[in-house]
Amino acid sequence: MRKQILIVGAGFAGMWAALSAARLADKNDNQTIDITVIAPQPELRVRPRFYENHVETLVSPLQPLFDATGVKFLRGTVSNIHPDSRSVSWKDANGETHQHHYDRLILASGSHVNRSFVSGVEAHAFDLDLLESAAVLEKQLKSLANQPESDARNTVVVCGGGFTGIEMAMELPGRLREILGSNSKTRVVVVERGPQPGSRYSEELRNVIIDASAELGVEWLVNAEVESVDASGVTLKEGQRIASSTVIWTVGVQASDLTAQINAPRDRQGRLHVNANLQVEGYDDIYATGDVACAATDDKGNHALMTCQHAILLGKFAGNNAAASLLNAEPSPYRQEMYVTCLDLGAWGAVYTEGWDQQVKLTREEAKTLKMSITRELIYPPKAERAVAFEMADPYAPFV
Ligand SMILES: Cc1cc2nc3c(=O)[nH]c(=O)nc-3n(C[C@H](O)[C@H](O)[C@H](O)COP(=O)(O)OP(=O)(O)OC[C@H]3O[C@@H](n4cnc5c(N)ncnc54)[C@H](O)[C@@H]3O)c2cc1C
Repeated sequence: MRKQILIVGAGFAGMWAALSAARLADKNDNQTIDITVIAPQPELRVRPRFYENHVETLVSPLQPLFDATGVKFLRGTVSNIHPDSRSVSWKDANGETHQHHYDRLILASGSHVNRSFVSGVEAHAFDLDLLESAAVLEKQLKSLANQPESDARNTVVVCGGGFTGIEMAMELPGRLREILGSNSKTRVVVVERGPQPGSRYSEELRNVIIDASAELGVEWLVNAEVESVDASGVTLKEGQRIASSTVIWTVGVQASDLTAQINAPRDRQGRLHVNANLQVEGYDDIYATGDVACAATDDKGNHALMTCQHAILLGKFAGNNAAASLLNAEPSPYRQEMYVTCLDLGAWGAVYTEGWDQQVKLTREEAKTLKMSITRELIYPPKAERAVAFEMADPYAPFV
């Protein structure tokens, strides 16, 4: 009987899991494992670039790559996981429900920003979580040029000062000048719960963020929490009101809801705890990877973050290990000791740090050049050529 590896999701983790599983099967001359990816589109959507303009172009097709590597693709969405019968229910593009058996399941269904816990966010705030929602935000920003001059029109509020909020906020002064003209009185305000801009980061990184914000004119409201959002702005818990027709929500990222269908421990963000082989606790046949996995990166207590950097390598290890378990080969324990950040700071440049203590190594143009090479080249899928893809899918291939 042919064995089935089923991968849910075609993001960074799912794509690399599929290629890595196919690589190991190929290396073992194994023709009896089917590797299937189920996702809404056969394309990689480059989420780390969703704060940029022309968001509809930030996709890369995957079907040629899957064809070249023998990976099957099913267009659809998984609605239910049935661990007892080793199957999933999934809906195709016509809304018809199907079942798919698996011998090994790799859950790689990513994460989403939680818009439901603050009043008015679902109805009135924009976000840059999905290609579709980032495109709606881009349209809104462009439409400001057609709105009458007012404080609300000229003010964009970014809720949340994490990496996504910062990259978006730093991009906005330039974007707003392009849209509204260089003489317009625009404001970009970041609402942040912490006591200072970038307070969750190292002092060195924080100082760079503060410097860049001052130079670009990005305002921070710290020790501030959003009470509600409505069509004309934001009300903070302290009662302060900011008039704005563009409120961008970046707070509260959560792992895909499919994680809740597996009866296993999860962290506060809903990520499934996995062992070193990326198997979900209590399930030898289910692997979690990318943003749905809470995985130790080393023996010092560090864990993977919801980043591409981690999703790519987690994907390679998960695919490799799922295939290894069907080939009676030794699994490769996931390790990712190196952690870097490269944060785009708009017209100021960028900042690059190394280590979990975020030591600043590059700033301004030097860091910007690196950022561009990461987000425009390094994280894109490999060429649709079997040998190239398999070489890069090796979990121990050099990366970053
Ligand atoms: C605006 C923004 C900026 C970011 N910036 C950075 C950055 O600078 N650096 C960095 O390292 N990371 C960044 N990230 C984080 C990074 O994008 C994620 O960590 C990464 O995409 C996670 O990869 P993934 O494969 O786990 O999930 P995703 O890339 O989200 O892929 C999930 C896949 O699962 C599919 N899927 C979801 N549900 C189902 C279902 N029910 N059935 C079938 N398929 C499903 C999706 O369609 C998609 O194909 C950013 C994220 C955002 C949103």
